[in-house]
Amino acid sequence: MKPIEIINLKFGYTKNKLILDGISLDFLPDTITSILGPNGSGKTTLLKLILGLMTPVSGNIFIFGTELKQIPLKERAKLMAYVPQKHNAVFDYKVIDVCAMGRAAYSGVFSSASKKDIEIAMQSLEKMKISHLAEKPYTQISGGEQQMVLIARALSQQAKILILDEPVTGLDYGNQIRLLKILRDLAKEGITCIKTTHYPEHALWTSGEAVFMRNGKVLASGSTSQIVNSENLKAIYDTDICVLSRPIDEKSVSTCVPLF
Ligand code: ADP
Repeated sequence: MKPIEIINLKFGYTKNKLILDGISLDFLPDTITSILGPNGSGKTTLLKLILGLMTPVSGNIFIFGTELKQIPLKERAKLMAYVPQKHNAVFDYKVIDVCAMGRAAYSGVFSSASKKDIEIAMQSLEKMKISHLAEKPYTQISGGEQQMVLIARALSQQAKILILDEPVTGLDYGNQIRLLKILRDLAKEGITCIKTTHYPEHALWTSGEAVFMRNGKVLASGSTSQIVNSENLKAIYDTDICVLSRPIDEKSVSTCVPLF
C-alpha cells in the first residue's frame, strides 16, 4: 500500500494566492524521497500539509490508504514523525528526556516516560551515535548536536513515515554523511523517508526518488537517477550543474559539479 498519496492538492496562506497549485504525488514504501526546489517553492508547506498541520483549499491526502482528515491526531503521530527545519532550544531537559518525548503518542503528553520509553529513546540516541550526550542538558549542546537529538526523538516515535525538513542544516560534513547513511538504513528497515534538501548530490547519494518543485508545482518526479540531471537542475536553480557518474568499488557513484 502507498504510504502517502496526494491528489491535486491546492493550498494558499491567503485567499488570492495559491502556494501549492495542483500537487499530485505518490511516495513509495521503504524509499527515501528527496524534495528539491528553490527557496519559496513550497517544500515546507507541502510537508506541513502531509502532516495535517494545515488544511488544504482542495485536494486529498491519503496515508496508508486512509484520508488524512479521518485519522485522529494521536494515530497520525504513530504513523508520521517530523523533524522541523527550525527549532528554538527552549527545553530545559536532559537529552534523553527530550528524546523520550517522541514516545508521547504512546504514553500521553502529560505521562512520564516509562522504562520502555527510555530504552527506546536510548536506542535512538545510539543509532544517531550520540548516546554520550544522554545526560547533558539539551540547552548546553551545540546546534548541530541538538539537530541530531531531534532526529533521534523522531526515531523514538517509531513511525513508519519519517519526514525531515532540511535535516542536514547545521550538521558538520561527517554528521551529514552519517545522517544520509542512517536514512538509507532506515529505508532498508521499511521506513518511508521524505526529506527536503538543498543538496541535489545528497539526493543522488541516498538514491530512491526525487521530486523537483518550482512555484508550487511539481516540475518532475521519479527515481533520482532519472530526475537529478543537468536540465532539471537548471530549471529549478537557474545554474549550470553537471551530474558526473563513475564506478567506485564496482558501484556507480554520482555527484553534482557546478560549472562556474
Ligand atoms: P520552501 O520550503 O520551498 O522554501 P515554503 O513552503 O516555506 O517554501 O514557502 C512557500 C511560500 O509560502 C513562500 O512564498 C513563503 O513566503 C510563503 N509562506 C510560507 N509560510 C508562510 C506563512 N506562514 N504565511 C504566509 N506565507 C507563507
